[in-house]
Amino acid sequence: MTFTELRLEDVTRSFAGHEALVDLNLTVRRGEFIALLGPSGCGKSTALNCLAGLLPLTRGSIWSDGTRLDTVPAERRGFGMVFQNYALFPHMSVRRNVAFGLQMRRLPRAEVRRRTEEAIRLVRLEEHANKLPGQLSGGQQQRVAIARAVVLEPSLVLMDEPLSNLDAKLRLEMRTEIRRLHQSLGLTTVYVTHDQEEALSLADRLVVLRSGRVQQIGTPEELHTRPANWHVADFMGYRNLFRLRAEERTGDHVVVTGQGLRLVGTAVGTVAAGAEVIAGVRPEDLRITDPETGVPATVEVVEYQGREVAVEARTADGVQFNLRTEQRPAVGDRIGITVVPARLLVFPVDEAGGVSVGESHAPVPVEPTPPEVSPDLAAVEVDEPAGGTRADEPAGGTTAGDTR
Ligand code: ADP
Ligand code: MG
Repeated sequence: MTFTELRLEDVTRSFAGHEALVDLNLTVRRGEFIALLGPSGCGKSTALNCLAGLLPLTRGSIWSDGTRLDTVPAERRGFGMVFQNYALFPHMSVRRNVAFGLQMRRLPRAEVRRRTEEAIRLVRLEEHANKLPGQLSGGQQQRVAIARAVVLEPSLVLMDEPLSNLDAKLRLEMRTEIRRLHQSLGLTTVYVTHDQEEALSLADRLVVLRSGRVQQIGTPEELHTRPANWHVADFMGYRNLFRLRAEERTGDHVVVTGQGLRLVGTAVGTVAAGAEVIAGVRPEDLRITDPETGVPATVEVVEYQGREVAVEARTADGVQFNLRTEQRPAVGDRIGITVVPARLLVFPVDEAGGVSVGESHAPVPVEPTPPEVSPDLAAVEVDEPAGGTRADEPAGGTTAGDTR
């Protein structure tokens, strides 16, 4: 069934009392590319599987225009799915894998052949059409999985971390491929990933999830420049997050102090004078000046990154700054660091009161942090462990075998 709008209203799913997804409200417009983004365990697959019909909702509803959808069985929703583990039939050729869904629908043989060849051509696998999945690379196998999904001309394509088993170079290629297919076929896509770069580059709009709850929904631009809270900022590459205190507020400008710092930033949300805050800035928004004009710091690490370098510098109080710059400071240099108020965002500390200790990327604590335990954004990008027979496995997954 086609739709103009697909609406998720208060979609909630619990597992034995544990709330995996809470009150997801989202309207997907036809033609949109939506990314569900968040760390492992935040409820992305749960949301996707609720949408697919592989998981019943605990509460809420899903609507395809005026038609209620969450009570419709998965196979009658007309959605296509692509999973991380490809889930291809290992004993069938590429061509038969792609044709399978069409044959199940008992379409005329000529039409099955025409659409199958078309889909194989779209994902550029003409030369491999007679091979078995085991004879293909990971990227090629994922292309088969994508062809198999789009050949059915689904009104919605659901993808759950489809690229996370591929190496970095292939991931980039397939990313472009997926966006190209989305556009040329006029698909509507909901795409799950824990990789913010992937989400930002692919999606028209992103839904950032944390602990089963939506943190923010917006365009890449909106999330990048105006994250709603420090968790989103953390995910959007605000690698410098400092736990400070708001000294005074004038309009949106806030003077923040602590850990030997005194900076002026822009308040996001409720930030009153005297409150504990988290101030965040992206590495590329910090500027290097001399120690007299900026925050004095010593350069500790300089990492070559093409046209730019990544710099780690530390203040006398032990606060570490991550910068990206076209300048070429040397290790041991004394520098000053500045940031314009518009680019230093000042967030309230959590609604629930305090930063939870278990956070894998917590803001710099008041104690100076030894370099070896410094927060690392990569730490939140862990892949989920092999899931056995969890709900994010496709229904036919057991017959497809492990193709990794
Ligand atoms: P993500 O896809 O973002 O990594 P999931 O949606 O898979 O996260 O999981 C969200 C939460 O729900 C996790 O705490 C996970 O352990 C739990 N969960 C997911 N599926 C099941 C299941 N079938 N049974 C019990 N708990 C589950
Ligand atoms: Mg998942």
